[in-house]
Order: sequence, then structure tokens, then C-alpha cells
Amino acid sequence: DQAVADQHKRVLLAAPRGYCAGVDRAVVTVQKALDLYGPPVYVRKQIVHNKHVVATLEKRGAIFVDETDEVPEGATVIFSAHGIAPVVRDQARALSLRTIDATCPLVTKVHREARRFASDDYDILLIGHAGHEEVVGTSGEAPDNIVLVESPEHADTVEVRNPEKLVWLSQTTLSVDETMETVRRLKQRFPKLQDPPSDDICYATQNRQLAVKQMAPRTDLMIVVGSRNSSNSVRLVEVAVEHGARDGHLVDYADEIDEAWLAGVTTVGVTSGASVPEILVRDVLDFLAERGYADVEAITAAEESLLFALPKELRRDLKAAG
Ligand code: SF4
Repeated sequence: DQAVADQHKRVLLAAPRGYCAGVDRAVVTVQKALDLYGPPVYVRKQIVHNKHVVATLEKRGAIFVDETDEVPEGATVIFSAHGIAPVVRDQARALSLRTIDATCPLVTKVHREARRFASDDYDILLIGHAGHEEVVGTSGEAPDNIVLVESPEHADTVEVRNPEKLVWLSQTTLSVDETMETVRRLKQRFPKLQDPPSDDICYATQNRQLAVKQMAPRTDLMIVVGSRNSSNSVRLVEVAVEHGARDGHLVDYADEIDEAWLAGVTTVGVTSGASVPEILVRDVLDFLAERGYADVEAITAAEESLLFALPKELRRDLKAAG
């Protein structure tokens, strides 16, 4: 009967989940800039790829724009966590904008690698998704040297100028396993292909995937909280299904959960992407508890303690303001 069925219902809750150090820094940057300079503060692109975060900051007076030329001359503009091509910085300078760069330091690291290999005249195979802001930004560092590789299949056909002097880099928020498959196929064609000096897929992406992999075999339904345009969140659904979850869905909010997904489900896995505030996960847990999934077991795949200092231009102004 229903009471007996409910006894077995449970939630596996992933750790780590939600905010990474780069997202936390970017969101706090907008909040502090609003406090310090007063609204409006302009933000180029979504500061992080999360609907709720963007809506909340908009209410406080942030104005999100697609390009810097939409920002009035002399105003303050914050660059998002995903990074920018150098040309964007030049445009902002030409418009005399006050700029604050909230690019995640782990994205900046990939930009540095791209510049260094390009100046040594390498061809760079950048593994990532066409059109994603981070890829646009990184590619802008060395447009003549960078060739995008979008999938393992694409690795079989991509062309380079000089296979003798070749390195691969990647977007920070990809599937670890799929990226390794892409690299394996690239190396079959280009045996001299060099690895990046360190992992480009960031710690937060790796850890969230690790937790999902541990949970997936025991999970009937994986609910990932995150927005459609969040690369790392979308990857978590894919990784869950690849590793044995019977079903998986991405939701921005608890009220997007379709009751039909719960039919015959005993174990629900819950996690969230790196741009997702914990309050949205709490709402999902409440939604599930009301439907008999009140027993929550944490699955901890890694401990995280990384924190990044705020952008230096903001720190300077905060200090000057006392
Ligand atoms: Fe930085 Fe990784 Fe977070 Fe992106 S997901 S902001 S690269 S820590």
C-alpha cells in the first residue's frame, strides 16, 4: 500500500553541488558594485548562467546587456564569469566605461594558455561548444591559431595547419569523459598532439560530475537544478543518464517538476549546477518531501574549500570607500 511504498522512497543529495568559487565571486561582485556605485550597474551578458540569479540582481538594479555598446558612456560595466575576448575590453575603453572583470580565474588561466601557445605559433584545438560565451572569449585571444572541436565525431574530421605543433585546450564546463574521448580520437590522427599544462575542465565541473556518477546507478530519476544555457548543468543530466539513472531532467525551479516523472520512482537523485543558489535546491527537496521523498541521504564525492578574491579593481574601490 501507499504507506509501505513511501517508506522506501528516498532522495540522494549530491555534494558538492551548486555554487563554485567563480560563480560566488561573480555574483558577489555585482552585489558589491551595486552597493558601492549605486544602481544602475551594467553587466555584459548574464553574470552567470542562471535565471534566478539574473532576475534577483535585476531587481536590485543590475542591467544586463548583450554588448558593451549598449552601455551609456562613462557607466560601470561588469564582465561575466565566462570571460571576454580582448576586443571587448578595447570597446569598453573606447567608450570610457568603468570596467570590472568578473571572469573566473580558472577561465583566465585558459586564456593565458591560449595566448602563450599562440605566441609560440602552435595550432590550438579548443574543445568546446560553438557559440558558448566562454568559447567565444577564449577563441578571441588567438583567432588565427584556434580551431574549435565540438564533439568526438568532429575530432575525426577537423583540419589543422601543422600537426607537428599542436596542443588541445578546452572549455571549463565539459563532460570529462566525452572530452577524453575527443582527445583520444584526436591523438589517433595527430600523434604529436600535446596536452594542456593543467586541467582546463575546472574542479567544480569535475566534482559535480563525480558525485552524479556515484549516485546514478542507484537513481531512478535525477533532478538537476540549473538553467538550459548552463553548460555544466546540462552535462550533469547527460552524465547521470550515461551512468545508469533511468531518467533525468533539468529544472530551473521546483514547480517545473512534472509529477508524472515520479511514477514508480523510489530513489530520486538531486544535484545542481555551479551557477545555482542553494535555495532552489531546498525548494526541490521540499517539493519531494511533500510527495513522500522525505528521507535524504548525502552522497559526498569531494570536499571543496576554494575561494577567489574579488576583482582587483573592485577591491581597490571598496578600500578607497573605507
Ligand atoms: Fe570557474 Fe569552474 Fe565555476 Fe566556471 S564552473 S566559474 S570555470 S569554477
